[in-house]
Amino acid sequence: MSILICGGAGYIGSHTVKELIGNYEVVVLDNLTTGFPVLLDEKATFIHGDLGDEETLDRVFQEHSIEAVFHFAANSLVGESVAQPLKYYENNVGSTITLLKKMVEYGVDKFIFSSTAATYGIPDSAIITEENPVRPINPYGRSKLMVERILADTAKAHDFKYVILRYFNAAGAHASGEIGESHDPESHLIPIILQHLLGESEKISVFGTDYETPDGTCIRDYVHVTDLANAHILAYEGLVKGKVENEIFNLGNGFGYSVKEVIGLCEQISGKKAAVEWTERRPGDPAVLVASSKKIQDILGWTPKYNLEEMIQSAWAWHSKSYNRQI
Ligand code: UDP
Repeated sequence: MSILICGGAGYIGSHTVKELIGNYEVVVLDNLTTGFPVLLDEKATFIHGDLGDEETLDRVFQEHSIEAVFHFAANSLVGESVAQPLKYYENNVGSTITLLKKMVEYGVDKFIFSSTAATYGIPDSAIITEENPVRPINPYGRSKLMVERILADTAKAHDFKYVILRYFNAAGAHASGEIGESHDPESHLIPIILQHLLGESEKISVFGTDYETPDGTCIRDYVHVTDLANAHILAYEGLVKGKVENEIFNLGNGFGYSVKEVIGLCEQISGKKAAVEWTERRPGDPAVLVASSKKIQDILGWTPKYNLEEMIQSAWAWHSKSYNRQI
């Protein structure tokens, strides 16, 4: 039996593949629009194709004995989602519906879904639990929430069960040094800082210095990508063992770091000084986003192993190494 990883050539998907290999057979489906061939694991079977394409999915489900699907494949740029909402609804929602239809048709009943803290929008509490209201403020967050609703309805109507994982800020790179965070264009804070410290940009911009936080910059909860990967495996094993069914879990470390603190830590770890431009707020950025991950800790025993320093160290190792590879 195999696990199908949709989006296994992307940042979080590729790290999950690495954690699965050795214990599970893995099939990766990726159209490589935002993923990178260099992140693909040679021990996984790779199918180049689109999960919105029924013929591709027929081939995948007919040729492989798929037991579960982990679904990472999505567009995830907030700004782009505002400018091109239909692209987001078509790809993130439409393609997922096709995938779910095919899962039901072929009797594949376990699904782990990559969702996001963006479903909460601007939260009214400092620490966010799964009970917080979901009020996404952009098409990206709404597209993820729509899929969450579709999953709930699918599980009521069919022999189908799921776990939804709402990630906070993924960061870090695999301990092997073989894979790390790669996006094009890059919009995430830590890789932007590290690439700048490696000389790839003249300066970095800090979006907003007048937030109601101790140093005026936004606070986020960073979680190591390997911890995220392991949460997926625990969720899947929880579904298999009947420990969990149709649940939603937050994934974060439970600690918040400001943008200024993150820059300071990156400088410390790299031994280099950043040139910082203090600019206007980025639209749609809440001041503070920190997760309570108590629910997944209690139910599935997930505990994040890495702190922010380790995330930046592993990311720095990866970025320094891949600097000349033009990934
Ligand atoms: N940020 C920043 N400059 C950048 C990129 C991000 O100041 O070049 C800030 C952003 O406004 C947010 C935090 O860093 O407060 C984390 O942003 P990121 O895009 O990494 O993740 P998000 O929290 O938006 O998912």
